Amino acid sequence: MPYISRNPATEEVVEEFNAHTRSQVEDALALSFEAAAKWRATSFAERGRLMLKAAELLEQENTEVATLLTTEMGKTLASAKGEANKCSTTMRYYSSHAEAMLQEELIDSSASRSGVRYEPLGAVFAVMPWNFALWQVIRFAAPTLMAGNVGVLKHASNVPRAAKYLEGLFLRAGFPEGCFINLFVDHDDVSFIIGDDRIAAVTLTGSEGVGRTIAKTAGENLKKCVLELGGSDAFIVGASADLAYTIPMAVTARIQNNGQSCIAAKRFIVVRERADEFVDAFVAGMAAAIVGDPMDEKTVVGPLANAAQRDLIAQQVEKSVAQGATLRCGGVLPVGKGFYYPPTVLTDVPEDSPAGCEELFGPVAVVHVVSDLNEAIAVANSTPWGLGGSIWARDSREIDQAIAGVEAGMVFANAIVASSPELPFGGIKASGYGRELSTMGIREFTNAKTFYVA
Ligand code: NAP
Repeated sequence: MPYISRNPATEEVVEEFNAHTRSQVEDALALSFEAAAKWRATSFAERGRLMLKAAELLEQENTEVATLLTTEMGKTLASAKGEANKCSTTMRYYSSHAEAMLQEELIDSSASRSGVRYEPLGAVFAVMPWNFALWQVIRFAAPTLMAGNVGVLKHASNVPRAAKYLEGLFLRAGFPEGCFINLFVDHDDVSFIIGDDRIAAVTLTGSEGVGRTIAKTAGENLKKCVLELGGSDAFIVGASADLAYTIPMAVTARIQNNGQSCIAAKRFIVVRERADEFVDAFVAGMAAAIVGDPMDEKTVVGPLANAAQRDLIAQQVEKSVAQGATLRCGGVLPVGKGFYYPPTVLTDVPEDSPAGCEELFGPVAVVHVVSDLNEAIAVANSTPWGLGGSIWARDSREIDQAIAGVEAGMVFANAIVASSPELPFGGIKASGYGRELSTMGIREFTNAKTFYVA
């Protein structure tokens, strides 16, 4: 299977890469196993020095790498620059905080000395998606490498230039060969790699279906596994919401990254007493977002990443409308080159329509009007997923009720759900398990070794 970089705005192929052969995969696994043995013995100071160097390179190359991201997956240049910045900030964060996060802990017991040490596991295999082609990888790699593990990457097949850039970045920063390897491999090779004894653990950021496949293979091979999967986050508008602030945030929460974010707000659940004020203004905000060339600084929504994504979202909307949903804006495929889809709002969505029960990975919002906050929380919890969710309210009782009641890995109040290096990131239910980032995240790929000295 070739790895093809195609510009979603022009549909032109920019570059193509052949998949690695099985013997190249074998060589890479041998190299990473060797590197893991040496890397685990390096000091935090040395690892931190190299991570900082990689962060500096990324900062110097911000515009160049942002252009690469935009022409490879269609996000706007401004958001691509922001993504690259977030990566370098996170690399800096782990370069200086990893040692404290993995400090040996003493625990009182019947021993004269006992506690827990956090030791690296070895080579961690990462299967990653295209939507934040740099960030998803760095979110895994910065803490994982700082913990003394090495990384093997299988990136999505439509972002090979981002994958190559990342491999080169770590090498140019001075990381020893084998510390971070990129492989262009087929789906069959993914199972093969997970099953290989030289791989200690696996992490996937991707869809629920692939999560089930990878979890099964990891389970059969008794490998530690972290899964960051899809979601259909609720954006709850409470009775006390400040709508002048909330409505523009609602629009951004749905259309950022051209609507292709796991933690994008996808379902807008509004209490009836605020529905008239919210819905019309939200629809107007969505309809006003400028769609166009992602390199143009005026553009807010660029093309979707590929034809398959665009066709899927178009079909989901079309079927939902055929089943009775009301189309409030958007919903019409533009003609011409590029995988564009307009910001779209649906109301009165039947539960069994695609918009009522599937993840919408594009700029399409579903609005539900409910009687009160109790019902809003019940609707928020009525999906198989549990990634994030947000409550928009001035009243702290409403905020606390939603934080306690929403079944998700992350609940934000008066802020768009986002990841940051200090806080745990991850979901429950069909959104996966395990955590990335924070002390919890960096410890996922460590052996929490208990020691006991009598
Ligand atoms: P995807 O189809 O699951 O792909 C993710 C990765 O899995 C890619 O590298 C893909 O490689 C690989 N893959 C696909 N099928 C495979 C198989 N049968 N065996 C082994 N590997 C396989 O997901 P996507 O469409 O790229 O990304 C969108 C999904 O990811 C959405 O559901 C979104 O919510 C979720 N996501 C979650 C998070 C989070 O943090 N929770 C973040 C971002 C995205 P190929 O490209 O070669 O197929």
